[in-house]
Amino acid sequence: MILLTPGPTPVLEEIRQAMAVQTIHHRTPEFEKIFKETREIAKKIFKTKEILMLASSGTGAMEASVINFCKNKALVVNAGKFGDRFSKIVKTYGKELVELKYEWDTPASVQDVVNAIKEDKEIDTICIQISESAGGLRHPVEEIAKAVKEINPNIIIIADGITAVLVEPMYPENIDILIAGSQKAFMLPPGLALIGLNDKAIEKLDNDGGVGYYLNLKAELDKQRKNTTAYTAPTTLIIGLNAVFKAVFKYGMFATFLDTYTRAKATREALTAIGLSIYPKSPALSMSTIYTEQSNEIRKILKEKYQVNIAGGQDHLKGKIFRINHMGHIPIYESVWAVNAIELALDELGVRAFDGTANRVYLKNTKG
Ligand SMILES: *Cc1c(COP(=O)(O)O)cnc(C)c1O
Repeated sequence: MILLTPGPTPVLEEIRQAMAVQTIHHRTPEFEKIFKETREIAKKIFKTKEILMLASSGTGAMEASVINFCKNKALVVNAGKFGDRFSKIVKTYGKELVELKYEWDTPASVQDVVNAIKEDKEIDTICIQISESAGGLRHPVEEIAKAVKEINPNIIIIADGITAVLVEPMYPENIDILIAGSQKAFMLPPGLALIGLNDKAIEKLDNDGGVGYYLNLKAELDKQRKNTTAYTAPTTLIIGLNAVFKAVFKYGMFATFLDTYTRAKATREALTAIGLSIYPKSPALSMSTIYTEQSNEIRKILKEKYQVNIAGGQDHLKGKIFRINHMGHIPIYESVWAVNAIELALDELGVRAFDGTANRVYLKNTKG
């Protein structure tokens, strides 16, 4: 079965082998050496001043960021399941919430955010997804962060980059906190979250201290600066992450980004050429999302007949969209086979006669 869901993504053979070694104790010079090296590479990839690694799924990093940095009131951009998750975290901890809600295909507008922070001076944190995976939507986070910092540099910007870091080059100058998780673009099993911190966030932790116990980021920062963790580190996943970084560097960072871009572009050209429509108004590179009332039927044929597993939609988009992953290192024959299988499914459903267009258009877009 070809796994083309936008997380979890397949784990490469060389990474699985790297993780197959005997477990080592986390409080040893051997592990600290791996931890230090992994931290230093992660800082380069995130382009942030500090990096924290947590034993949790991505949501743990979202929760840790909210509790450690939002003192009173958060502005949450909610254009899907993951934006909604930020709102729920804010409410769970009894903080005040201002929500900017958008349909799942619509990116946040810079002006809306600017208006909101001008209207309400109590907002101290902004939470937003770079790529909102619910609809495969890209928010203009860099522009929003720049505009916000020009108005009030003290507002902390928490950007969820779980389906963005390692998918495209990062420019987080104005982003204070950049979150990533292991099972999406990092091509690892679930269970490791990463948090990149920039100056303002580091300064806040150092001056004000952290909040919480297990998710206390000041406690983690103090330890991780010394190349160890506050609690038991997910040693196997960190060894895996080290191997992922080395594999990406061996292949080339730019080549990885270019491959992802090409895969996304070729998939979209191929699928629009056979009459399908792209769902988000501003598509992220992490996945291609197609709007179709026959999403369930297409997915069923793909899985049962052609051995391709793609994702559907959630909530009000159940049965209305499908999502094809572009994150990680995906061999071209898998991506081509997926668009070809979709064209075959459309034929079977009586939508459009198969003539090999998807396959041809995909390959044409991978040349040059
Ligand atoms: C997957 C994902 C998360 C976190 O999910 P976990 O299941 O907790 O790892 C958060 N944000 C986005 C955008 C995601 O795609």
